Order: sequence, then structure tokens, then C-alpha cells
Amino acid sequence: MHGLRTFYKYNGGSAKGWETVKCNECHHDDTKVIESRDVSDGEAIRRRRRCLECGNRFTTYERLERPQIVVVKNNGGVRELFSRQKLLSGLLRASEKTTLGNVELQRLISDIERELYACGEPEVSSAKIGDMVMQRLAKLDEVAYVRFASVYRRFTDIAGFEQQLSEIRGRKDLLADRP
Ligand SMILES: [Zn+2]
Repeated sequence: MHGLRTFYKYNGGSAKGWETVKCNECHHDDTKVIESRDVSDGEAIRRRRRCLECGNRFTTYERLERPQIVVVKNNGGVRELFSRQKLLSGLLRASEKTTLGNVELQRLISDIERELYACGEPEVSSAKIGDMVMQRLAKLDEVAYVRFASVYRRFTDIAGFEQQLSEIRGRKDLLADRP
């Protein structure tokens, strides 16, 4: 049975690490979340769970920060740890001479990290992270968006790229303005 993988600790217990939540009575790993609530200002989620095997109810505290996210690259399934620094340097390049500085970009990355941790998957594709970045950049700065998109998409999908641009601006001639 596929269990939810998450970083958690039981009520009052010690941290268990990045592993499947098991019932603290019967150790069955199929549990149902009854209730979820953000605690510590969104840094953790408190979940009430019910064991589907024995009916035991228990509470887990799932931390959103400590587990490391594994990024699966598109080409050949190479895996590496998610790196804020690496993403930041790509974003800084895309954001040169735009309205976006270090503070805005750090915030953007934190927002992405939060979303990644919240979905609870231990692995995420680099394509998904790229899409998450682009969604946010599109709302923040068009120039940075276009630069990031042109590197990230590597011009393999010009039609889709142009469509996204025209959706943002409502016209199709933005490519002509690119530096
Ligand atoms: Zn149980």
C-alpha cells in the first residue's frame, strides 16, 4: 500500500524523519487524515489521523522545512537535491535590470518551497519546478519571465511559449522586444 511520505513527529514524541506515517499503536501505514491545521506560522502542519487498520486516532506534526526535496531532471532521470542557491542564481540572471531583486526572488523561492513541502511528495520533476517559477514570474516581471522561459524551455516549444506570452500581454509580438 502506498503510504504518505512526510516528515513528522508524534504528539510529544521525537522527530521520526522523512518516512511513512505509521499508526503508533499497530504500525499500519495506511492512515486517513481527519483534520489539518497550520501551526507555527505555516512552518508545520498538525494533522489528526485515523488508522484504517485499528481505528486508532493520533496526531502528527509535519514539518515543512527540514526534509530535502529531490529534483528529478527531465533528461534521463538524474536526481539531485533541491538547491535554493542554484535556483536563485538562475533567477538573478533572468532578473538583471528588472524590478526584481534578491528580496523578491528569495520570497518567490520560499513560496515554491512551501508549495513543494505542502504537497508531500519526496521527489519533484525539474519541469514542475520550472512551471512553478514561471507562473510566479509572469505575475511579477515580464522581462524576467521571458528570459527565464527562454532558458528554461530552451526553445523546444516555441508555440506554447508564444501562447503563454500572448496570454500575459494579450498580444503576440513580445518576442520581438526580447533583448
Ligand atoms: Zn493502527
